[in-house]
Amino acid sequence: MPVNGLGAYDDSNVFAKILRGAIPCRKVFENEWVLAFHDINPQAPVHVLVIPKGKYVSLADFTAAASEAEIAGFFRAVGALANELGLEAAGYRVLANMGPDAGQEVPHFHVHLFAGHNLGPMLT
Ligand code: C5P
Repeated sequence: MPVNGLGAYDDSNVFAKILRGAIPCRKVFENEWVLAFHDINPQAPVHVLVIPKGKYVSLADFTAAASEAEIAGFFRAVGALANELGLEAAGYRVLANMGPDAGQEVPHFHVHLFAGHNLGPMLT
């Protein structure tokens, strides 16, 4: 497993609990590869999180350890979800935080899907 700023996968993280059904979420979409749900603290009119069902802390972890089917399934789901939510015309932003410098709070790899108004310039 690649070294990352958050260490090895911890089954007690909140997204692991959501995947186990121990904590509720407002589900948007689910298939064999991903679960997507509304962020509990939305930063835009549309703020959906997409998480792989496998146990990966970071993007590097995910792309190194997941199968090609999982990786394809994940990114296909993100694109399909944006399309199904009707976001393609006006646009949207996909963002993923990795490790301490990016302020990653939950150590289970995920992407944020933001939309619903002009999102302004991307923050660095
Ligand atoms: O990328 P980062 O790890 O910082 O983002 C984690 C996100 O998970 C936050 O936007 C937070 O609001 C969200 N969250 C959630 N439901 C929880 C716990 C956190 O939607 N139960």
